[in-house]
Amino acid sequence: MKIAIYDTKSYDRQYLGEALEKLGVEATYHEFRLSLETVLTAHEFRAVCVFVNDRLDKLCLEKLKEQGVTLVALRCAGFNNVDVGAAKAAGITVVRVPAYSPHAVAEHTVALLLALNRRICQAFNRVRDHNFSLNGLVGFDLHGKTVGIVGTGKIGQIAGTIFRGFGCRVLAYDPYPDKEWASEHNVDYMDLETLLPQSDVVSLHCPLTPENHHLLNAKTFGSMKPGAYLLNTSRGKLVDTEALIEVLKSGRLGGVALDVYEEEEGIFFEDLSGSVLHDDELSRLLTFPNVLITAHQAFLTCEALSEIARVTATNAHRHFKGEPPLDQTVL
Ligand code: NAD
Repeated sequence: MKIAIYDTKSYDRQYLGEALEKLGVEATYHEFRLSLETVLTAHEFRAVCVFVNDRLDKLCLEKLKEQGVTLVALRCAGFNNVDVGAAKAAGITVVRVPAYSPHAVAEHTVALLLALNRRICQAFNRVRDHNFSLNGLVGFDLHGKTVGIVGTGKIGQIAGTIFRGFGCRVLAYDPYPDKEWASEHNVDYMDLETLLPQSDVVSLHCPLTPENHHLLNAKTFGSMKPGAYLLNTSRGKLVDTEALIEVLKSGRLGGVALDVYEEEEGIFFEDLSGSVLHDDELSRLLTFPNVLITAHQAFLTCEALSEIARVTATNAHRHFKGEPPLDQTVL
């Protein structure tokens, strides 16, 4: 029972290692990603484990099949990087981890807002420099503010409930509203056009689909409340970065916190501290004092990593024993 695991970092090796060892599955870890260029490294394995930036297109999947791979285990929820149809045609089972910790992502969203609004990063740097001045560090109370949640699935509902706990009024937009949750937490559903002008904070929690690409663009930014804050821990392409830079330059937005970025692939998850950053839009975003960016780390808690490892290891083990994957994990 052997699995090849790609695009791994130390935390992947720690959590997956423990879960796989418990089930007697042997792991070979690679730091590089799985793609057509690296696919020959899977030749000894029946199972491979990949993450968000591995590229499993049709040709790569055909090569995997030729080498005897019968399971692709994604250690994430999203699967836009795997040609699922081609995998099916090749007789390869694809599994993922549909939900690991919605709390991790919702709590990170709130952490970003608090850090941004209360100028925590600036204050931390000042105090370490023995600069104890408070000039420029004025924030606002969240209590009494209006927060608009876009997408009220697992993460959006937890975020909304946390904001209710702060004493915020919570508005929500979702094409499939959960009226029971809304009435239990005093949340008001409305359409996006009505939500944006009323919200002091807009928080995105919907998946990226062809319909909502650039959901926030020059037009929709124009309908946001002046001074409003935007939070995006969902997917980078929900926001038109060029339009975001323009609206930030105009001073119309109060602040922006991002855990995801339109062109994050090849940048986020990597230590590029010794290199020149070639992405001009990301470089520009980093110059704004009211923009806070983390590199897709909202999921990164020990609870989420343990759950990802548990589900992935269990599915690999079951596959080797000829048993079906866990419920709701097969694509
Ligand atoms: P979910 O499937 O439980 O909920 C998504 C909700 O969005 C659903 O209720 C759906 O009806 C709604 N929706 C779909 N299209 C919409 C639209 N155009 N406008 C408004 N709402 C819409 O998903 P989830 O587990 O809550 O995750 C939400 C998103 O968070 C994921 O799609 C993913 O992109 C992102 N995510 C980010 C991280 C991270 O580390 N930053 C980790 C996990 C998930």
